[in-house]
Amino acid sequence: MATAAGDHGVETSKTNGSVFVEGKPLQVIQCKEGEHKLTLDEDAIRDVLLSPEICNKNVAVVSVAGAFRKGKSFLLDFFLRYLEANGSEDWLGNDTASLEGFPWRGGSERDTTGMLLWSKPFVIKRPNGEEVAVLLMDTQGAFDSQSTVKDCATVFALSTLLSSVQVYNISMQLQENDLQHLQVVALASHYDKVPKLFTEYGRLALQQSDCTPFQHLEFLVRDWPYAYEYDYGDEGGNKFLTKKLAIEDNQHPELQCIREHIKSCFSSIGCFLMPHPGLKVANSPHFDGRLQDIEKEFKDALKKFIPMVLSAENLVVKKIQGEAITAKQLLEYFKSYIKMYDSDELPEPKSMLQATAEANNLSAVATAKEQYIRDMEEFCGGDKPYVGPDILKEKHDHYLNSTLEFFDSKRKMGGPEFSLPYRTRLEEELIQEYERFISNNDSKNVFAAARTPAVFLSLMII
Ligand code: GDP
Ligand code: MG
Repeated sequence: MATAAGDHGVETSKTNGSVFVEGKPLQVIQCKEGEHKLTLDEDAIRDVLLSPEICNKNVAVVSVAGAFRKGKSFLLDFFLRYLEANGSEDWLGNDTASLEGFPWRGGSERDTTGMLLWSKPFVIKRPNGEEVAVLLMDTQGAFDSQSTVKDCATVFALSTLLSSVQVYNISMQLQENDLQHLQVVALASHYDKVPKLFTEYGRLALQQSDCTPFQHLEFLVRDWPYAYEYDYGDEGGNKFLTKKLAIEDNQHPELQCIREHIKSCFSSIGCFLMPHPGLKVANSPHFDGRLQDIEKEFKDALKKFIPMVLSAENLVVKKIQGEAITAKQLLEYFKSYIKMYDSDELPEPKSMLQATAEANNLSAVATAKEQYIRDMEEFCGGDKPYVGPDILKEKHDHYLNSTLEFFDSKRKMGGPEFSLPYRTRLEEELIQEYERFISNNDSKNVFAAARTPAVFLSLMII
């Protein structure tokens, strides 16, 4: 089993046979039973997102969410194998290696609700040459008792806000009758607050821009029992989904509404039907994840599903307001979202949008400031000669204007009025930076330095 989450940094999980998994699960968001308050391990997130290999790279965040004990972590460990093997032919591994990574199995008792992030990001080169950092996110939640509905809804909403691919893991075993079968689309339909939270958030976000608030939603149906009706895999899945998402006149208006909104909130939606993995996987207390105990049909489905999500061609990068974001920028979103969850109530869609807009503006400020610093460094950085104060002022004015123009031209959420305080803050920060450049520049001026008596004296001696 994988190393426990806790301290930070990358280490290597125990391995067995030829399968090697680097990294460990980090519990980045936690909600302890009975406490109903989320805590964010900002240091852990920082360690991952600000690591030098990825902080300035765009990110693809793949999350798996859904009810407890439905094989989410088990699936994620195959994601890890694929990434670790760099998508090579035999990535699935050998027959006898146990399955390592995010902790899975662990009996029927769950202890925490929360979110785990794999400590090691994987860098994948896309066909256009761009390097993207892939982050894997596991969610934990019971979805099984009223007291925890809020926590689960929160974790579900958070993981959807933060990911570029949300794999919504559902089991058909529980929903064998036709009525429930129909409900597959209503994200955790028995917790009606979750879809409402989303659809309302999506509606508000769409009012502000023409970009969909979320990217890809993939329904992953485990133990699909009706292969005679819809075949396993994505083709059967998408046919099934089209039928389930169809809006029909005889549907209750609320159901119509949910369908409509889900479609408008995500850039794309897919569905994959997984076969049952076999009785050893489902029932055996001794099963350790080795491939030889898993049904061939299930393994074949994994070989199709995982590259569909993670291959260099298919990766979906995280976008906010239509713009790809870097790992460093993602940190702002983590921080803003967690702030709004710091209360006993489910967040209002309005505050979710506000948090997104806040992080969006903050990251525009940071990017603009970086641009100013880069330009000024090039002109008068540490290794550049002293320049006269008038020339320095002229350059500052020039770059200040171009940086503010850059900030204004960036697509931001919340509209110009919302962005105004952030613009002011940017201007103030640029002036502080300018002052830093002035004093660095002054220190290079030997003539000015020579005016101080001690230096003057020592010059005289020479
Ligand atoms: P999680 O709580 O959703 O993360 O579930 P886990 O990944 O911890 O898996 C819970 C149990 O389900 C384990 O005993 C797995 O062996 C088993 N399992 C994994 N995948 C599947 C599946 O596709 N179908 C069934 N029936 N069981 C599965
Ligand atoms: Mg799990």
